[in-house]
Amino acid sequence: MTKYVFVTGGVVSGLGKGITASSLALLLKSRGYKVFMQKFDPYINVDPGTMSPFQHGEVFVTADGSETDLDLGHYERFIDEELNYTSNITTGKIYSSVIEKERRGDYLGATVQIVPHVTNEIKNKVYEAGVTSGADIVITEIGGTIGDIESLSFIEALRQIRNEKGKENTFFVHTTLVPFIYGSDELKTKPTQHSVIELRSLGIQPDMIVTRSNVSLDDHLKKKIALYCSIPKENIIDSVDVKNIYQIPINYYNQNADTIILKQFGLKVTKANIKYWEKLIDTVDNLGKEIEIALVGKYVELHDAYLSVAESLTHAGYKYKTKIKINWIDSEKLEGNVDLKKIFKNSKGIIVPGGFGSRGIEGMIKAIKYARENNVPFLGICLGMQLATIEFARNVCGIENANSREFDSMCENPIIDLMAEQKGITNMGGTLRLGNYECTLKKGSLAYADYEQNKILERHRHRYEFNNKYKEILEEKGLVFSGVNEQSNLMEIVELPSHKHFIGCQFHPEFKSRPTKCHPLFDSFIKNSIK
Ligand code: GLN
Repeated sequence: MTKYVFVTGGVVSGLGKGITASSLALLLKSRGYKVFMQKFDPYINVDPGTMSPFQHGEVFVTADGSETDLDLGHYERFIDEELNYTSNITTGKIYSSVIEKERRGDYLGATVQIVPHVTNEIKNKVYEAGVTSGADIVITEIGGTIGDIESLSFIEALRQIRNEKGKENTFFVHTTLVPFIYGSDELKTKPTQHSVIELRSLGIQPDMIVTRSNVSLDDHLKKKIALYCSIPKENIIDSVDVKNIYQIPINYYNQNADTIILKQFGLKVTKANIKYWEKLIDTVDNLGKEIEIALVGKYVELHDAYLSVAESLTHAGYKYKTKIKINWIDSEKLEGNVDLKKIFKNSKGIIVPGGFGSRGIEGMIKAIKYARENNVPFLGICLGMQLATIEFARNVCGIENANSREFDSMCENPIIDLMAEQKGITNMGGTLRLGNYECTLKKGSLAYADYEQNKILERHRHRYEFNNKYKEILEEKGLVFSGVNEQSNLMEIVELPSHKHFIGCQFHPEFKSRPTKCHPLFDSFIKNSIK
């Protein structure tokens, strides 16, 4: 029978509930249990796919093509398990499904209400994650903060799950803030107490409290929280600020957080295999040199908009014991009269990641031209790959008005065009080319050398595509199409063999990079940037 762990947050948002949930999952997995993860987001959007990156940060894409919250990226990076459509549930998804059922007549004349119809739908999503994943333990993070109006129906559903499954099958972790007050120079537990009162008023008594603070909690404070919140002192896990987030699972391990959960579940406390993780921490703490990589994009003010890309660069850095400093460049600012040499002076490589819409495009093209002409290692991802072909068409093949139909619908030379199956689509949500598609690599290419195999699966998220009408012209001038989706003859990877390192991919490799196992395309990009 699947066991369920629920992670809620109190006092403030941004406490790192996602990292808490991931750390517990990592520890439970390291003890040989099959874990699966899920996040509830109490907003009305069906998924974050149509939200602005400035609102929401990056959209993390799972192998099955679900557009999800960026916390799922943390989950996958920590537990190295592929998540899926059951892993990110929003209020929008729940309500769509309830309303669809109502229209079909499934409720047989009943008045459809939040309790029980909406809460049943939520409970089913929790159970569905357990059944479809076959996991021993499902960890569900509840977005937002206890007390928010939006999350009430989710919390009520969890209360009912505890009632149905019992304490031996459910476990509640509440993450709170313990602020340090300057002046009186002490940590304050009152916000935690209040947040637990709030949680209790919704019918939930936490089994564990994770306290976020900038200095460690002493025994006296833990006793105080234990007394007021009615939980054993040992079940208060001190989560003090760390400079390396990979340290967090180990900090929890040292306080027996995973053992406490297993004991409540009546599961065997097997030996934890965490040596590999300790090795990672050691690597991260002892990076020798540092190199700078320029990331040219339009959402750079919010680094979270490129979270997985930044992580992937960092992971590849670990392999070469090198710290990666990102030079965040707003592409729009490159459009005027600027000295590119000065801007890229210290950058050993240039990356142009994904993006949508026409703002800042010409600046990205300028950066790509600079990388190509100055033999600076380049990696283009999705939009970055599309723009690399446009830049090549314009400046090497002499097709001056080459463009993408995304930015110029009347474009005479659409190097990048709308995919055939995209024509006529009017709904923007969930209709991109999403998730895993196969790609066949050309023997002898850089991509082939990187992956060391000829068939790969990578995750996609785009609407436009390289236009094969221009393939021959670009090939004649030296661009190599080294990856293709054979089913639909779509170009997936381009590269320039004459260059030190110039490669672009239509898919998003950043979703598959792990701290302990960097992605092949980031690996070679960083390796050649260091050289
Ligand atoms: N806007 C481009 C497209 O839809 C690229 C998308 C992306 O970079 N993820 O095809």
